[in-house]
Amino acid sequence: MEKLTTPGVTRAVLAHYGIRARKKYGQNFLTDGRIVRGIVEAAEITKEDCVLEIGPGIGTMTQYLSEAAGRVVCVEIDETLRPVLAQTLEDCDNVEVLWQDILKTDLKEVSDRYNEGKPLKVVANLPYYVTTPILMRLLEDKGRFESITVMVQKEVADRICAGPGSKEYGALSLAVQYYSSPEIVLKVPPACFMPRPAVESAVLHLRAYEKPPVEADEEFMFALIRASFNQRRKTLANGLSHGFRCRGRVLTRTEVEEALTALGLTADVRGEKLSLDQFAALSRQLENSDL
Ligand code: SAM
Repeated sequence: MEKLTTPGVTRAVLAHYGIRARKKYGQNFLTDGRIVRGIVEAAEITKEDCVLEIGPGIGTMTQYLSEAAGRVVCVEIDETLRPVLAQTLEDCDNVEVLWQDILKTDLKEVSDRYNEGKPLKVVANLPYYVTTPILMRLLEDKGRFESITVMVQKEVADRICAGPGSKEYGALSLAVQYYSSPEIVLKVPPACFMPRPAVESAVLHLRAYEKPPVEADEEFMFALIRASFNQRRKTLANGLSHGFRCRGRVLTRTEVEEALTALGLTADVRGEKLSLDQFAALSRQLENSDL
């Protein structure tokens, strides 16, 4: 089967099967060979690797992944694409398609069954309506994935890579940076997709940490982070003394101010100024202040 990476072939395949891109599944099919090759290259795939592709669509990137990897397991929610993939992947003997929702997929079973329980590499042009839940599900499943290389909305990529002090910095940046080191490897304009999305896109490469870069009680620290950014314009002392709750614990303003001072921070500091290191330190300080 010829490659799908031109608008002409993609249009012909869609017309042949009477398929219209479904908005509710975030379907924007890639039609640019340079971008697809760029994604596969950024994912550093070898014949030793088993790749999990989320949302193969009509198989555009799958064809390239099949050539680069030892094995490819795809998870696709839209069963109307069955006949299309049967044709476009007919020469790809190392590809298996699981027809299900990635948010309900048993990821341990996938790695056990297809890769002897070893870490997988994830590659995807993600459906934008569920980017964050998919990424967090993958990242929180520690040790299951070696790397995650995904197309996302550019604005989301910027938020994920942002550092303290910038306006994009927030709970999502900290959550992703706790589990992995993120990097934007490609910027992608709407013209590379069919249909064209309304937003700019970017390819993110996340290299998963074997061990998180900071030490903290995860549940406690992420409750602090959420409360800090829920009320972005408030000082930490204000936000945390009103919005924090974890395992029945709440915080007083004095407790928060004392913890900030002990860490060399001013009592009126805002959450957006604190690095992951500082949130971890604050978390250790406040957890112990209750003893
Ligand atoms: N990989 C193809 C490409 O690059 O041309 C299609 C990418 S399209 C942006 C997103 C794909 O994810 C669609 O095929 C869509 O049906 C699928 N999808 C959407 N939600 C999903 C979910 N919850 N689980 C699995 N696949 C999903």
